Amino acid sequence: KAKHDGRNRFHYYTQEMNDIATRKLALDNSLREALQNREFNLVFQPLICNVKGQPKVQGAEALIRWTSPVLGQVSPVEFIPHTEQSGLIIPIGRWVLEQACQQAKRWVDDGQEDVFISVNVSPRQFKGNDLLRDLTSALESSGLHPHHLNIEVTEGLLIEASPELNNTLQLITDMGINLSMDDFGTGYSSLNYLKKFPFNNLKIDRSFIKELPDNSDSAILVTATIAMAHQLGLSVTAEGIETAEQYNYLRGLRCDRLQGFYMGKPVPANEFSFELAP
Ligand code: C2E
Ligand code: MG
Ligand code: MG
Ligand code: MG
Repeated sequence: KAKHDGRNRFHYYTQEMNDIATRKLALDNSLREALQNREFNLVFQPLICNVKGQPKVQGAEALIRWTSPVLGQVSPVEFIPHTEQSGLIIPIGRWVLEQACQQAKRWVDDGQEDVFISVNVSPRQFKGNDLLRDLTSALESSGLHPHHLNIEVTEGLLIEASPELNNTLQLITDMGINLSMDDFGTGYSSLNYLKKFPFNNLKIDRSFIKELPDNSDSAILVTATIAMAHQLGLSVTAEGIETAEQYNYLRGLRCDRLQGFYMGKPVPANEFSFELAP
């Protein structure tokens, strides 16, 4: 019996590994053509500015979507890591920046004078000199003023802290672009990084928001994070707000920006509204 189980398990694992390898291969092959075949699009999720009185939609986070003719809809959580390994994130990231800046410029031209667009930049894009060139060219070709652009980076980037990285982040800030630390609180040394690098904003990871307001540990952590960030001169964004209770609670804590399915899901630009739903 034991032997039989053992063999089954062995068989199961190899099958699973085989499936993973096959999936990876299919992803890599499909991704190579995806940009030319126009299989990517951007969706935009509203970022609500928590001003006294009436909160308002002030901007959006641009999020990539991929519809593959072979694999169907594939989540960025799955395919972005592949593009980071293969280096494809460089041309894809450039495309994201161009599209996002163009959309923001359209909003500015439509009268949204204070709008900002927030774009995720992967750690791999910081290797070499491509990023500064790509940022400059996306801004120039769209005609978007840099103060409308916000870059989101995760702590993963900062683990490989180096003078070059600090220099690049400083140059981005000097260009007038804003910098957010994404998924704050999930990494190894978030606080240390905040001190070292020129961030303007931190985004509290949605794992801390999920259990608000009832879970007292989450409540304490979020309250303290907001207070600390404000004292350091940073603004705070809460991501993953799904309920009215979370929304009202975070508004009460003076969290500067609010983001989540409760106020708006990511949608294509033609469905995006600057009217606040709830
Ligand atoms: P992220 O930057 O932390 O983006 C927020 C993710 O949370 C998005 O998932 C968004 O749809 C989701 N989200 C927002 N509000 C809620 C909510 O209330 N509840 C729940 N359950 N989820 C919510 P998405 O679009 O699947 O993106 C996942 C991750 O993929 C992003 O996490 C980001 O790290 C990466 N990503 C997405 N687009 C890009 C891109 O253009 N470039 C790069 N480098 N990475 C990207
Ligand atoms: Mg993000
Ligand atoms: Mg995030
Ligand atoms: Mg997150």
